[in-house]
Amino acid sequence: MKKLESEIIERGKVLPGNVLKVGSFLNQQMDVKLLSEMAKSVYERFASKGVTKILTVEASGIALAVLIAEKFGVDAVFAKKTKTANVEGGVYSAECYSYTHKKSNTLIVPQEYILSDDKILIADDFLANGEAIRALRKIVLQAGASLVGVAIGIEKGFQGGGDALRNEGIDVYSLAIVDKMDENGIQFRSKQRLKNPKG
Ligand code: 5GP
Repeated sequence: MKKLESEIIERGKVLPGNVLKVGSFLNQQMDVKLLSEMAKSVYERFASKGVTKILTVEASGIALAVLIAEKFGVDAVFAKKTKTANVEGGVYSAECYSYTHKKSNTLIVPQEYILSDDKILIADDFLANGEAIRALRKIVLQAGASLVGVAIGIEKGFQGGGDALRNEGIDVYSLAIVDKMDENGIQFRSKQRLKNPKG
């Protein structure tokens, strides 16, 4: 999505450790118009698939998930992160290693929020190694629901998580795919290298 790519170039910052900071427009201060355009593109991509629920993980996936859910006219659910592996009954749960925070969490969703006849679209702001999406997919499987696909704001293609999921037959739709980023610039998939990023 062109608009998202140009915002990443203009306002994104490449931090050490392959982290792309987009807090100024995507996941702390939120450009709601941009997020809404992103959600519209996701809706158009999956409109014919009978999606009944959007599933994401707290906190930074929630804004995009809510806007996508609004386009589909369905509810959005987020998995909560807990530090303990000993979760109470009545929930679906899956382990997830956080790339940005360098620690493991257990993701939990109350069983009553995902039903076996749900058709789930998973959404998140970023896809890097694919840990978060794999944990959410485990939760969908535990519920006996079906996974329609995965919608991502920014995929860091060079970390390989998205392509591994695609190779397993999962329909992963990313609005921007960064294939290379460093102090010299950010390169999107199938595009020329663009101007220097700040930061
Ligand atoms: P994965 O589980 O695919 O390795 O990483 C995805 C999760 O880590 C996302 O939920 C996102 O919150 C976080 N994440 C991964 N890479 C980045 C990044 O470069 N920037 C930001 N802001 N978050 C990231």
